[in-house]
Amino acid sequence: MLLTLDDNMVTHSGYSGTKEEINQKQRDYYNKNRTRILEQRKKYRDKNYSKNKIRILTDSKKYYENNKEKCKLKRHERYIRDKDINSESYQINAKTTKETSQKITEILNLLDNKCSNPYNLNHGDFIADIRCLQIDHINCGGCKEVRKKGKSYLRVVLEKIKSGSKDYQLLCANCNWIKRYENKEVRH
Ligand SMILES: [Zn+2]
Repeated sequence: MLLTLDDNMVTHSGYSGTKEEINQKQRDYYNKNRTRILEQRKKYRDKNYSKNKIRILTDSKKYYENNKEKCKLKRHERYIRDKDINSESYQINAKTTKETSQKITEILNLLDNKCSNPYNLNHGDFIADIRCLQIDHINCGGCKEVRKKGKSYLRVVLEKIKSGSKDYQLLCANCNWIKRYENKEVRH
């Protein structure tokens, strides 16, 4: 609700001050609670989107066609305004990606950097091609473990291997699929 007090002073959602001050306060609030707000929006969108998908898509396409310049301008304004935050989250993401690949490299090193070849297959040049190596829980606990540990999965696996666990091995993608087939986890 926007209530005009005089030409410059307005009160809006519990804030009062000049329009510019209120905008700033709302921006500050948004920046501070960004993750929570985005999560809430996503939840709302997910709930309603599938129900009204076609209408939403047609409406927004129509709106964009009729307001192209305005939309472009808004998008640019948003980009300028959120530049710092976006670059901050970009840096955080880059850091996480780097940490993840460091953990994977460490695990691969500890597990000899090659497929453990449990079915004695002829691997040709692929046995130590790290592009197709996957970390496997020998007793099929892998899937459950991923669900349980979420993001910290690699950290947990690394700690376990370091403290002497023999639960893990490397499998190439082919051996991993053969294992799933043998364990009846997939059927053709
Ligand atoms: Zn293999």
